[in-house]
Amino acid sequence: MTPPFAPAIDAHVHVLPERLLAAVRNALNDEAGWEFAHPTDREAIEAVLHEAGVERYVSLPYAHRSGVAADLNEWVRARAEESEMLIPFATVHPDDDVADVVYDALEAGARGLKFHCPVQRCPPDDPRLDPAYELAADFDRPVLFHAGTAPMFRGDSAVGPVPFESFVASFPDVRACCAHMGAYDVEEFLAIADDYDSVFLDTTFAMSSAAERYMDFDPGTVADDRIEELSDSIMYGSDFPNIPYDYAAERDHLLSRDLSEATYRDVFRRTAERFLG
Ligand SMILES: [Zn+2]
Repeated sequence: MTPPFAPAIDAHVHVLPERLLAAVRNALNDEAGWEFAHPTDREAIEAVLHEAGVERYVSLPYAHRSGVAADLNEWVRARAEESEMLIPFATVHPDDDVADVVYDALEAGARGLKFHCPVQRCPPDDPRLDPAYELAADFDRPVLFHAGTAPMFRGDSAVGPVPFESFVASFPDVRACCAHMGAYDVEEFLAIADDYDSVFLDTTFAMSSAAERYMDFDPGTVADDRIEELSDSIMYGSDFPNIPYDYAAERDHLLSRDLSEATYRDVFRRTAERFLG
């Protein structure tokens, strides 16, 4: 019997204004040569997710420079108002008035914060972000980081297990996810998740059946036992629509494993609920 996927939560989706999405795609095309066939507007994105069995998804904005986060957060929030599926996150750039931007976003209904450490040039333990983390703790909202070296950030001091664990140790009350299983340092990030209840990892890209081809990472190196042990810390995500492969590839490797039904329910839904609070 095929293990259950629906009703899933996809914890890592990018519904973005058309121009920003095009800029992200152009950067990935230039640097990685990836081509994108998926739709860019919210309704078409949601149709694909819904068809696959996704009930709700987290939409993650990007602020690649200062001064753009407030408008972007408001744009995502407005899309959430039109949607039954979209769970809005917010972002801020470390050079913004961090406390103001984050307070306004959380007060307006953002369910969490997103930081892309290498693109925003800020490690998770960057003290400029402390006001954001203090507000996340006050509002009981989680934080999601691109904090790993994949796919093109090896040697970048903003990423890797050291600055992530330094943040986690300073803010143990803030639920924190490292996207992409922390690739390419998956073992080290799994060990951090062993040590801290507040730490989560998302499966985005790294656990897809396309990871080896597009990211030079073999998801088979993560043993079934590790996923069972950490099923309340590992949640499904996809990076849709910015993936150079079919949406089904994001889950078919996971579904081909011999995991317990409880672990599948955790990974595809319950862990995201715990993360979101
Ligand atoms: Zn992403």
